[in-house]
Amino acid sequence: MKLLNYINGEHIAPSAGNYLDLINPAEGKVYGQAPASTGEDVELAITAAKEAFLAWSNTPASERSAILHRIAGLIEANLEDLAQAESLDNGKPVKLATKVDIPRAASNFRFFAEAITQYATKAHDMQGLNAINYTTRDPLGVVVCISPWNLPLYLFTWKIAPALAAGNTVVAKPSEVTPLTAYKLSELCKEAGLPAGVLNIIHGYGHEIGDALTSHDHVKAVTFTGSTAVGKRIASITAPLFKKVSLEMGGKNPNIIFADCDYENTLSTTLQSSFANQGQICLCGSRILVESSIYEQFKADFVAKTQGLVVGHPSNSSSNLGAIVSKQHYDKILACIDLALAEGGQILAGGKAGHVDGYPNGYYIQPTIIEGLDMQCKTNQEEIFGPVVTIMPFVTEAEAIELANATQYGLSSTVWTQDISRAHRVAKGLQAGIVWINTWLLRDLRTPFGGVKHSGVGREGGEEALRFFTEPKNVCIKY
Ligand code: NAD
Repeated sequence: MKLLNYINGEHIAPSAGNYLDLINPAEGKVYGQAPASTGEDVELAITAAKEAFLAWSNTPASERSAILHRIAGLIEANLEDLAQAESLDNGKPVKLATKVDIPRAASNFRFFAEAITQYATKAHDMQGLNAINYTTRDPLGVVVCISPWNLPLYLFTWKIAPALAAGNTVVAKPSEVTPLTAYKLSELCKEAGLPAGVLNIIHGYGHEIGDALTSHDHVKAVTFTGSTAVGKRIASITAPLFKKVSLEMGGKNPNIIFADCDYENTLSTTLQSSFANQGQICLCGSRILVESSIYEQFKADFVAKTQGLVVGHPSNSSSNLGAIVSKQHYDKILACIDLALAEGGQILAGGKAGHVDGYPNGYYIQPTIIEGLDMQCKTNQEEIFGPVVTIMPFVTEAEAIELANATQYGLSSTVWTQDISRAHRVAKGLQAGIVWINTWLLRDLRTPFGGVKHSGVGREGGEEALRFFTEPKNVCIKY
């Protein structure tokens, strides 16, 4: 299978003719190639987007909305094929991609297709001065959308849908590790009648084409989801060029469990928030803090449940965890486990590679729980982004908040308690963009999504996304 770039409505080969290998992580086998694009391809994509802007930005919102609904419909109609592709590329269980990733990609288009038809402009009447202001929100022009490998189509469309809905034209780059569903999306966009040049999808290594994308003169805004290190680079490039930027980056999220929690719900959801998608969700709770009076009981039950999880081939419906996305990431996670041991951690569950019968070259890791580390060690400070959590006790509410906030990150937090006053107090004290109380990853697409500190700059979702992808212009009239 050979993927192609999607530029100006056509599927085309990369100018320099270079390709990179695509690997099925569940089997450790090459299954295809994607373009390893160069600056020349970036130039073609940005030029196409620039030329398409005038017509697209002047297309009535109702027509843009109808096209986005058609794309959503095609994603839904191709659910099974897209879920298989996502799993092949990423290693995630097919059942997870079928239930979460692909339906959410369709919802992203549907949500912003609706939202743009309801997006109102404002007027400010200057009473007594015989003047009125109205504020329009115009699309920006060409925007660049860059996304990671962990939720490939889900996060790719989370950026593209609001950008297009608001009337921008887009150059989008999926992760080079998981480009397959982005390629399939380009076919669906063509089928849906999206005009040429409105969405351009370019494949390749971030370190080779990233700077050309983010520094280009014609690019008005960059929206990025990925690691904090790359986010920092993008910020340093775009800041002196005064581009709008939105950065969704790493996390080291706390999961705070008080003794008065709804115990069974806390336990089963903590299993999810720790190990769903092999722990490769930016919102996973990787630091579990448990009130000391229930610590031993919770630890024993959590370890037992974790040991019952099945690590298996992603196409097997009984697999709870599939494969890690790449050999490079698999090696990094195993090195993090070694580091935790060197720092004095004790492994309560997992701690090793997983072996799946028939697939000796697949990148599997057992769900791992580590105890006995303080909050300052590297294991508790640096993002691992795999099926590895630490667990530690706390005594007071103040201590829980202090431990939770003691990292450079601030994406999401989870709090388990039946005490409503405490729930609000703790939520207020947490340095995070998102706080879940007695639940995890319950998403309403209207709400602001993103992090504070080194986890993010700006917010996605609902009105926040439409504000990001538009520029206000105030017109003041004296009459
Ligand atoms: P990454 O930063 O390595 O890559 C993300 C994207 O950036 C890829 O498309 C990559 O090709 C591109 N890229 C790389 N170098 C670039 C450069 N110099 N200029 C422009 N683009 C460049 O991240 P990853 O390993 O793909 O994803 C995992 C990371 O993403 C984790 O840190 C995770 O926490 C984070 N993440 C955050 C969120 C969130 O919402 N905050 C969501 C999902 C993942």
